Amino acid sequence: MSQPATLPVIEENAPIPTWFNVGGGADRLARPASVEELCACVAAEPDLRVLGEGANLLVDDDGVGELVVRLDHPAFRTVDINESTGIVRAGGGADLSKLIHACVRAGLAGVEGLIGVPATLGGAAFMNAGGAYGQIADVVHEVHAVNTAGERVVIPRESIGYAYRTSGLFDLVITEVQLQLEPGDPEAARSRLKEVMAKKKLTQPLAAKTCGCVFRNPVLRADIEGVGAAHERVSAGKLIDLAGGKGMTAGPCAVSTTHANFIETADTAKASDILRLIEQVQKLVHDRYDVELETEVVVWRRS
Ligand SMILES: Cc1cc2nc3c(=O)[nH]c(=O)nc-3n(C[C@H](O)[C@H](O)[C@H](O)COP(=O)(O)OP(=O)(O)OC[C@H]3O[C@@H](n4cnc5c(N)ncnc54)[C@H](O)[C@@H]3O)c2cc1C
Repeated sequence: MSQPATLPVIEENAPIPTWFNVGGGADRLARPASVEELCACVAAEPDLRVLGEGANLLVDDDGVGELVVRLDHPAFRTVDINESTGIVRAGGGADLSKLIHACVRAGLAGVEGLIGVPATLGGAAFMNAGGAYGQIADVVHEVHAVNTAGERVVIPRESIGYAYRTSGLFDLVITEVQLQLEPGDPEAARSRLKEVMAKKKLTQPLAAKTCGCVFRNPVLRADIEGVGAAHERVSAGKLIDLAGGKGMTAGPCAVSTTHANFIETADTAKASDILRLIEQVQKLVHDRYDVELETEVVVWRRS
């Protein structure tokens, strides 16, 4: 009979690295080395939190008390590309950018529009990362995960519940994602990748410390002249810009003047400064347009 897997080493008072580079740490952090060790973590603590690349995450200054799991062991970063079928199987902790470059080199099309989105594959699949140049939901074939009972599950794409910048993959730890890409011409995929990256460099503050878009693009309840019609999903950045939010500050954090849906931070910033600025921007847009902006950035608070 096989032995049940033991828990990995639990690090105490560990920092939580995020792209914002602010906020508290984890009272306890685990880096499982296998799915079995991950299952043991979930079985011991079903309400654990999963850390990806920390690119869309804001951790409050007090940090978090739940066990935080990070899938950065090589066991969760494997990438297997089948050039002839276009099927790509990769670990939930795989680096999305490296994966995109590998797919493009293999002549596979379908993910190159996601270049410039810092993420693990698991984080991207959970958030349904994407934008004007496509979203990961377009190419996800199935997701392998561990549920809160510590069991392995496979979710086919039709059961994932993908929608704008969200999925139904709550309460799961994504361990592997299978993508279905389109075999084709490596040169065509490479030039699209370059084109997307060039456009992002012009329109986003890529060198600053940010989390990408802070707010979800809202659906309008009523027509707003110069913005959009009722029931239309419109750019949160455009609303913030038109309301005069560019350059608004709270402590050392500012609404980007390059893209109004980005908040840029300095080394001295605290999570509370960003949270305050988020509220200021929400109030500005509410007062000007009667639109409620919801956050896209995931906020972790001590419960
Ligand atoms: C410069 C910049 C540009 C960006 N541009 C874009 C963009 O164009 N489009 C876009 O959509 N986003 C963009 N983002 C935001 C971010 O890159 C995406 O949301 C990305 O999907 C986050 O992935 P992550 O691995 O960093 O997840 P994290 O930020 O670490 O976590 C985000 C959420 O995903 C969950 N999660 C992470 N890994 C797993 C897993 N294995 N299983 C289950 N849940 C998991 C976390 O628990 C958390 O709830 C940008 C961010 C930056 C900093």
